[in-house]
Amino acid sequence: MIPILSPHAPLPELYREFLAQLSQEGFSGEISTDYATRLVSATDNSVYQLLPAAVAFPRHEGDIACALRLAHTETFRDIKLSPRGGGTGTNGQSLCDGVILDLSRHFRSILELNLAAGWVRVQPGVVLDQLNDYLKPHGVFFAPNLSPSSRATLGGMIATDACGKGSRIYGRTSDHLLTLRSVLLDGSTHESSRVTPAALEQLKEQASLVGEAYRVVDQIVTTRRGTIAKQFPRLQRSLTGYNLAQVYDDAGHFNLNYLLAGSEGTLAVVTEAKLKLTPIPKHKQLFAVRYAAFDAALRAANVLVRSEPGAIETVDDNILGLARQDVIWHSVAHLLDVSGEPQAVGVNLVEFESDDPAVVERKVLDLAATLDLERGQEGKATGYTIATRPEDIAALWALRKKGVGLLGNLAGDRRPVPFVEDTAVPPERLADYIRDFRAILDRHGLRYGMFGHVDVGCLHVRPALNLRDPLDGKRLREISDEVVTLVKSYGGVLWGEHGKGFRSEYSPIFFGPELYAELRKVKGVFDPYNQLNPGKLATPPTSGERLISIDSKKRGDFDREISKGARIKFETAVNCNGNGQCFDYHPDHVMCPSSKVTRDRIHSPKGRAGILREWLRLLSNGSFDAGAHRGTGTGGRHARSEALTDYSHQVYDAMNGCLACKACATQCPIRVDVPELRAEFLSLYHTRYRRPLKDHLTAGLEPLMTLLGRMPKLANWFMTRGWFKAALARWGGIVDSPLLSEKQLRAALAARGAPIYDLRSLRALDAEQKQKTVLIAQDVFTTFYESNVALAVYDVLSRLGLNVVFLPFRQNGKALHIKGFLERFARLVQKNSRFYSRVAELGIPIVGIEPAVTLTYRDEYPAAEARLAGKARHHDDKAGFRVQLLQEYLAEKLPELSPPQLGAAGSKAPLLLFGHCTERTAEVDSQKQWQAVFRAFGLKLEAQATGCCGMCGVFGHEAEHYAESRGVFELSWASRLAKQPAAQDSVLVPGHSCRSQVKRFAGFVPRHPIEALRDALGPGAES
Ligand SMILES: Cc1cc2nc3c(=O)[nH]c(=O)nc-3n(C[C@H](O)[C@H](O)[C@H](O)COP(=O)(O)OP(=O)(O)OC[C@H]3O[C@@H](n4cnc5c(N)ncnc54)[C@H](O)[C@@H]3O)c2cc1C
Ligand code: SF4
Ligand code: SF4
Repeated sequence: MIPILSPHAPLPELYREFLAQLSQEGFSGEISTDYATRLVSATDNSVYQLLPAAVAFPRHEGDIACALRLAHTETFRDIKLSPRGGGTGTNGQSLCDGVILDLSRHFRSILELNLAAGWVRVQPGVVLDQLNDYLKPHGVFFAPNLSPSSRATLGGMIATDACGKGSRIYGRTSDHLLTLRSVLLDGSTHESSRVTPAALEQLKEQASLVGEAYRVVDQIVTTRRGTIAKQFPRLQRSLTGYNLAQVYDDAGHFNLNYLLAGSEGTLAVVTEAKLKLTPIPKHKQLFAVRYAAFDAALRAANVLVRSEPGAIETVDDNILGLARQDVIWHSVAHLLDVSGEPQAVGVNLVEFESDDPAVVERKVLDLAATLDLERGQEGKATGYTIATRPEDIAALWALRKKGVGLLGNLAGDRRPVPFVEDTAVPPERLADYIRDFRAILDRHGLRYGMFGHVDVGCLHVRPALNLRDPLDGKRLREISDEVVTLVKSYGGVLWGEHGKGFRSEYSPIFFGPELYAELRKVKGVFDPYNQLNPGKLATPPTSGERLISIDSKKRGDFDREISKGARIKFETAVNCNGNGQCFDYHPDHVMCPSSKVTRDRIHSPKGRAGILREWLRLLSNGSFDAGAHRGTGTGGRHARSEALTDYSHQVYDAMNGCLACKACATQCPIRVDVPELRAEFLSLYHTRYRRPLKDHLTAGLEPLMTLLGRMPKLANWFMTRGWFKAALARWGGIVDSPLLSEKQLRAALAARGAPIYDLRSLRALDAEQKQKTVLIAQDVFTTFYESNVALAVYDVLSRLGLNVVFLPFRQNGKALHIKGFLERFARLVQKNSRFYSRVAELGIPIVGIEPAVTLTYRDEYPAAEARLAGKARHHDDKAGFRVQLLQEYLAEKLPELSPPQLGAAGSKAPLLLFGHCTERTAEVDSQKQWQAVFRAFGLKLEAQATGCCGMCGVFGHEAEHYAESRGVFELSWASRLAKQPAAQDSVLVPGHSCRSQVKRFAGFVPRHPIEALRDALGPGAES
């Protein structure tokens, strides 16, 4: 039985008082001091872990002003605060042991768009992709780009002066700021923009913190002009935090925004930003230029840049190798792997863009001619592909964006980590610099991945370290020091892109002692008591506190305490590298519905992984080895209420919000598979705590159905009684339970004269007969709840001339897995594997109808077998048999069968496929396969890009999840369906859960694609 866990993380008395007072002062947002919420904000994408005292989620500017004003009072001068956006910083920028002001939850509005004047006004929690998706129909965009654009916020971008692809042309975030509205430490607000000298004088005259700030900054930049010019390298990626060099422009205007940008939350909290808009170039083409050596790719950048591209980005062999094993390769393989050419070891992506197609065409032809001329020469490109279709261009950039995440998949204990990740040198010196950089890493015997912006001399390098090993912790320090010396000698900077954070201790080296003293004055005027994101960038002159050190406590120092067995069993939770890809904002993207609907990071894969890691650490420290212990999960003796403060409950709550949609299992670059982790967790949690009745009901659904399926009318009579529904909701926690099909599948098949399964007679079939036979693996949903779908499968396949044999119904066990009854699940897996392996020996295809159930045989089954064998599961592991998805089978088989052409008989409205999210993510071709199937019948099927429907098996039927389930449905499905109000017939939905969800929230039952085919085949299809 697991022990009770009581983490020792007391809330300091001063913080307790501060938070209490804050609530009294009218702070209207949420304030969380629970351990789980604090833990989730204790990490970002860096190697560091720093537990905050509390996390506050302000709702409006007044809340921020309230918090800062209170902190500014004498009583609370030891209170520290740090703003936080997407938490994607790679150097611990937002980490702080005080109060985190998380703006990503409530500051997400795009406030005003003025196309004529070319600006948009936003709140700081708006995500970059959210903004650009909104702007796209207007033909404009916010130009500064960054890889984690799906989750990084504008506030974070401003505070780190972010930039990325295309920065050679478009510059950094600071170049696109018109006005910033900020709250200062005294609670006052200020709007900063470019001002004339006369306006500056007026500002300086103000007797306030603002006036003082203008006076001090102006004095510094005017008196230190010479030193600034000397100390700031003339680079596209020059010094930020604090960018004294650009406060005055060439026309003599003063702009405080250049100083606030890149200040990493150390001076003020930005609450609104008016941003410059840039027209989207109308024409684009992208070269993927391939090289036999990465060094050749780097050296080529100098030549490529002469062709005046918008961007040149490079990717090394490590990332290409990892991408080849990732889902992303499906979309780029045809552009990068070219037959007859050696596999690329380095790739340069070179993009041309303009409103004038002739300009793009000319540049493309010029570069192609150069590359053709050089082909075959030593050190030159081995080949290239020109992507012209928007989807190909997007796919190549997506590969580049996913690079960091993919690196986290390098095999072994050492994983690539960011700490010298974004150095920048003059581009013409990049190749030599990287040669010397590699020499450092080679001397330390380290592997690494490289990619980045070669056109501006900024290359991302992530050396692989195991920070659980103290020796590698020391190596991080040694390498950092060596790289600082190296990059300085090349006239470059350590932080060409990602800001300083915990690397702030190197600031004095790059700014020089004289200027660094001025930075401290800047900090001192805005934040005299070192309260705003303390230790970052600079400390106030009067403060005795030191800059934060790169030797600060790292995540690895905590993870080291997790037992080896637990690390293996919960491997992906330990390997989550925090890149935040699972915070994806887009409602139509499958990742991660619970995070989107709750806006609570606890309910994201990253949050769950982090909370679980801490659970494993606490268990290990309590001498309970979660790796060695196999939870029976049958139900412990204790009620949850007996130990309310047990940390395990917080883990349970985080896991309980997961829909088990499985998007994380494939879309996360590390394949953090939360449903798998949750199943393991639940099986241990319930060694101590009693299971709720609903778990037993869910786990018992399949066996129960074999009984109730024989008397569906009686079962439905009960299910439609008010008192029964109320009892089910009250005691069983189940709502909207679907009714059983009154047409029993077995009888209906018999009435159609369907053959009965008999292994011996199947064995007796000859090869030709086997070719014409297909075996259907039944599932609980289409056998007992929607027998019409299973019958449609029979009808369509028989009509195609196939001998369709339904295998006897067998429990599949997915529900057991979801609820963590792992021992029972494993026993079932063993039995089913024996059965299906025997059937598979026939050499006749086995086909499943319900996608989620079918995919269990590919995913949870191998995992259970690995578990039984006491091994870590590898994502390539397969079961000893294969059950095909219906469309997978049909797409393969139809070319042999000459299906009738149904174009004329089909619906007039286009048919729309609303795919099942688990299927779409686990089998990337599954939607294309449905389209191919319909094409074979002469019908057009349009695949809809939707997120999760919110039902996910039992999740949406659990009373406690009803609101969340509905919320997820409304995020994506509701609006998509609303666009087809008159054409419900055209909506085709392969998932049982999704059909149930549409029924209860959109008021109609959509057809399964196979029903649409059966209907189009017309009378007689029911053979
Ligand atoms: C995989 C990956 C790739 C990356 N690639 C790039 C890249 O291409 N280019 C790039 O520039 N960066 C990149 N980064 C780094 C990171 O994404 C950027 O620094 C980003 O700007 C951080 O935004 P965020 O919303 O996540 O901010 P956070 O990490 O939450 O915070 C960053 C800093 O901003 C401060 N801050 C946040 N909101 C406010 C506010 N309203 N007012 C004042 N201060 C605030 C915080 O205190 C903190 O100091 C990458 C990171 C990852 C994980
Ligand atoms: S769960 Fe996956 S996507 Fe999310 S932060 Fe961790 S590694 Fe990245
Ligand atoms: S399974 Fe789905 S809901 Fe659960 S963590 Fe993964 S993506 Fe989120």
